[in-house]
Amino acid sequence: MREFDVCIIGSGPAGAGAAKSLTGSGLKTVILEKQRLPRYKMCSGMLFPEAQQIIRDHFGRIPEEILSDPKEFNGIRVYPTKETPLDSPTEIPMPSRLFSKLPDLAGCLLNVSRGGLDSWLCAQSDANVLDGCRLLDMSLDNGHVQVRFERDGETLEIKSRFLVGADGGQSRVRRVFLSDPSKPIMQIPAYEEHYIGEVDLDVENWFYAFLDPELSQGFASFHKKDNRLITVSGALQGNSAKAYLNRFRAHLESVHGLRAEECVHSYGIVLTDMCFRGDFRLGRENILLCGEAAGFMRFFTEGITTALITGRKVGESILESMKTGRQPLEIYARAVAREMDFIMEQHKQYSEIQSAGDSLFV
Ligand SMILES: Cc1cc2nc3c(=O)[nH]c(=O)nc-3n(C[C@H](O)[C@H](O)[C@H](O)COP(=O)(O)OP(=O)(O)OC[C@H]3O[C@@H](n4cnc5c(N)ncnc54)[C@H](O)[C@@H]3O)c2cc1C
Repeated sequence: MREFDVCIIGSGPAGAGAAKSLTGSGLKTVILEKQRLPRYKMCSGMLFPEAQQIIRDHFGRIPEEILSDPKEFNGIRVYPTKETPLDSPTEIPMPSRLFSKLPDLAGCLLNVSRGGLDSWLCAQSDANVLDGCRLLDMSLDNGHVQVRFERDGETLEIKSRFLVGADGGQSRVRRVFLSDPSKPIMQIPAYEEHYIGEVDLDVENWFYAFLDPELSQGFASFHKKDNRLITVSGALQGNSAKAYLNRFRAHLESVHGLRAEECVHSYGIVLTDMCFRGDFRLGRENILLCGEAAGFMRFFTEGITTALITGRKVGESILESMKTGRQPLEIYARAVAREMDFIMEQHKQYSEIQSAGDSLFV
């Protein structure tokens, strides 16, 4: 059995954010990741200005190699309905106060490869990273956490003082330690397809969002990444995200001149409704959750920023708890209160606009 101060499950931006704030203090930190790195993560890979600032401040200059083509977008062009005239989408240039309250924020949307970004963030954190780990079980005993997992055919065991659940929307850490049958979590499927082809939209400069409820039960998005045109749509639990994506694709073909020669990739993922209900699950005792595992997701699925923020706060809360002897959960809950309020405010504003049948942000 190997001993660590902190064991982090998940190597996304939340896990890397937590690790980065811990390793500088000399704490022995390990990240366990179930996939082999660099792993594929279904995500548009838009790095919003606040995320860019956090990365620059804590991880260093973002390397060119993780940027896709085009490297950046001016912002988001929104088509509130199918009837919105082609030449008058609502433009949200970046930086935008809708996506951050920070003053003096600079930057556009950076178009990144998630596999590249997340692996680089983890490497910058200086934590021990073990990929290809299959979790067997986790237990909390006498103030210590024990994690058993399998790697390369070998069963290994880790004992740590703190456990960080940074394992994404379908978090196993949350299901094992923080499930609450009185608060069921709704599953929101999303589906994507990548095409080689052309389109009559300015995909070199803008990321596109379509809000018509026939095209998605959340929002549908369209953007270019390297030589691919990427469509994404989502549905509520029990409905088919793929059916919505098919309608979205037909709309792009008939209205925006999409000419998809070949579909080269398709993928599905499941999000949760925790952020819409304010059902944030932060942890218990010496187990803390961050990022999507805890329910953190800003609107327009801006999840990287909030994962970096809450991951960092987890690490800082652990350090403060070790220094002061105070409960880590109490410190962490206070540290992320502002982020929770901001997310709730964003979603409230969005649902008010939707229910008023108004066009977005105008
Ligand atoms: C379609 C779509 C588009 C999006 N676009 C954007 C965007 O443009 N910009 C943006 O900011 N956000 C976007 N998001 C949101 C963003 O992708 C997530 O919110 C963000 O990745 C959350 O980070 P995380 O570290 O909490 O979790 P993740 O990035 O999901 O990382 C969790 C990690 O934990 C690992 N893991 C899971 N279970 C286990 C286990 N049992 N054992 C070990 N490891 C495990 C996973 O393999 C994964 O590597 C998008 C999301 C979707 C679905």
